Amino acid sequence: MKLRICTTLFSLTVAQLAWGQTNGKLVNTEGNAPEPSANSYTVIGATPKQEALVRAQIQVMQPDVYPLRVLFVPHWKYMETARIFRLHVPAGYTSAMFTHLPSRSVFIDSDRYVSDDSLGYWVAHELGHLAANSTRESDADKAAGEYRKRLRDARKPDAH
Ligand SMILES: [Zn+2]
Repeated sequence: MKLRICTTLFSLTVAQLAWGQTNGKLVNTEGNAPEPSANSYTVIGATPKQEALVRAQIQVMQPDVYPLRVLFVPHWKYMETARIFRLHVPAGYTSAMFTHLPSRSVFIDSDRYVSDDSLGYWVAHELGHLAANSTRESDADKAAGEYRKRLRDARKPDAH
């Protein structure tokens, strides 16, 4: 029980750090947050276009576990947050997002935002971490496969 309380406090603190300068009108509902369902998660720090896109993609993917929040943060804050979480972010340029499982937060490096397609591809991977409740890349990719398929199916020209 004690451990759980510590974890909650920890994620609160870090979430506030991460939110700090990206969103001035933050309303913090953490602590009494209801179980998330489709679309009840918050998207923070994104442009309206990015937010619409990431919500549409997550809706298409219908993940087994939804994030509580998706945060778009500048690169320096992304690296700092990873450091605070003691997460290993690979030195290469393959990692543009990561997920903090205890707080179900997906962090996206907005300075490495490449294209709409790659956003969906990597968000699928992060949702895979949540679905598998695992930090292992292989577990995440396994779950992501189905989500990526749903994305591809939704994009097919004959789908409309
Ligand atoms: Zn991963």
